[in-house]
Amino acid sequence: MTPLQSQKKLDVNGKVVEHFEQVTGRTRAGKNGKDLKCPHCETKMRIYHLSWTSLQCRYCHTDVPKKEWLVDQLDTWRTPR
Ligand SMILES: [Zn+2]
Repeated sequence: MTPLQSQKKLDVNGKVVEHFEQVTGRTRAGKNGKDLKCPHCETKMRIYHLSWTSLQCRYCHTDVPKKEWLVDQLDTWRTPR
């Protein structure tokens, strides 16, 4: 199965409630961490740094390279959760 490359969920009013895109070189965890979504099983994991090259999903046990993880686009320093 091809891993997800992005995911956007809208509520009934068209408001974006979830938006995940692949990790890029500009992705930062920030001091409060970031939610990553496994592109294989869509399980969310909280990470606090990105100094790794791949991470095993604790749910589906797939070894996912950093650039394939999807990172929460709505959780930024401007709009922290
Ligand atoms: Zn997974």
